[in-house]
Amino acid sequence: MSGVVVAGAGQAGLQLAASLREAGYDGDVTLVGDEPFAPYQRPPLSKAYLAGKTDAAGLGLRAEGFYADNRVGLRLGTRATAIDRTGRRLILEGGEALSYEHLVLALGARNRPLPVPGFDLAGVRQLRGLADADALKGALADVAAVAVVGAGFIGLEFAAVAAARGLSVTVIEAADRPMARAVSAEMGAFFRAAHEAAGIRFRFGSGVAALEGEGGRVAGLRLSEGGTVPADLVVVGIGVLPNQEIAREAGLAAEDGIRVDAMLATDDPAISAIGDCARFHSPYAAGLTADGTVRIESVQNAIDQGRCLAARLTGRPASYEAVPWFWSDQGPYKLQMAGLAAPGDASVIRGRGEAFSVFRFRHDRLSAVESVNRPADHMIARRLLAARTPLTPEQAADPGLDLKALVA
Ligand code: FAD
Repeated sequence: MSGVVVAGAGQAGLQLAASLREAGYDGDVTLVGDEPFAPYQRPPLSKAYLAGKTDAAGLGLRAEGFYADNRVGLRLGTRATAIDRTGRRLILEGGEALSYEHLVLALGARNRPLPVPGFDLAGVRQLRGLADADALKGALADVAAVAVVGAGFIGLEFAAVAAARGLSVTVIEAADRPMARAVSAEMGAFFRAAHEAAGIRFRFGSGVAALEGEGGRVAGLRLSEGGTVPADLVVVGIGVLPNQEIAREAGLAAEDGIRVDAMLATDDPAISAIGDCARFHSPYAAGLTADGTVRIESVQNAIDQGRCLAARLTGRPASYEAVPWFWSDQGPYKLQMAGLAAPGDASVIRGRGEAFSVFRFRHDRLSAVESVNRPADHMIARRLLAARTPLTPEQAADPGLDLKALVA
């Protein structure tokens, strides 16, 4: 085996393989994935799939025949355990080694565990993969009271599905509002009110001291500030950790993500990293992080990095500069985001009621736009950000200004 070997058979790895073939790459392409499934979409796992509105067959990223038709080898249910950089070999569990000309690390991320007693009780779950979603679906059929730890995107999507089934749902969150790291106070307030109207209770500014059980099964949460929340199912959604260990052990720079340059290459020119596991310098992260690097967990980022790397590997190198964008479906509402906002960025609102956008500004430059029921704003925002079109907070606040005219 030589050619391109991809560790991780998820959204980014699949896109890289598909884009390599589209660009006419003729060498071997092999995806190594530790899950037993061909690459599939994760977003529906906390939305339509969990709600029973789509089945597993609807999750596949490509039709079954794609892999044979495009000579993309799949090694599923197989964990990559080490990289032999000198010999250019990816070592698999069991000791087999795959030789590579180029190795792509598309390892994704895993859920952050909750470091409190009782985390190992039955009935305490997290959601990352199809197996987790199946287990959760089964559990939902059998419980009455659900507690969700973490009011981030996945926690809230799950909470909305559980509440729609008529279950009692309490969300416990350390910050003072939902999605505090990612969206404005204004957008957070809208989603808080929407979830509360659907019957979800929130405990903000709250920590979990322990998960308490009876007979090995979870029965509730003990809060750090005192008091308990009864629950026969606890879903923990407190963020993820990048799967970077095999890179680090092989001597590659990796701290909260495998470090890559503007071309998505690691310190080793024969190894690149893409998707949730990669930390890179982004023009959209200026002023967001101390060193201007980010790790982005989104379908857009996984796809665009897969495409960008495939272009380089087939002789069309370009730096990765795609505009970050994201969506989250929570109950009847679709939140769409473009750009990257920092918690302190200023907010300017366009629209009102259940259809509005929050334009965020960092040092008077547009940094991000969050929209609910204003899909046109979202599309325009992507174009404004990509073209770096100047927009002042005063212009954004002017309902008479036609934003479309700025990107025409
Ligand atoms: P993944 O798709 O996670 O693929 C990585 C693969 O590598 C996994 O199969 C993993 O098991 C495997 N792997 C890890 N280590 C090894 C190893 N050592 N050997 C072999 N294989 C290994 N994004 C959005 O934009 N919008 C959404 O609404 C949205 N909703 C989401 C809902 C859920 C429940 C989840 C979990 C994610 C959601 N995301 C959403 C995020 C999005 O799915 C990810 O950003 C995207 O899947 C990242 O692609 P990836 O290829 O980097 O990682």
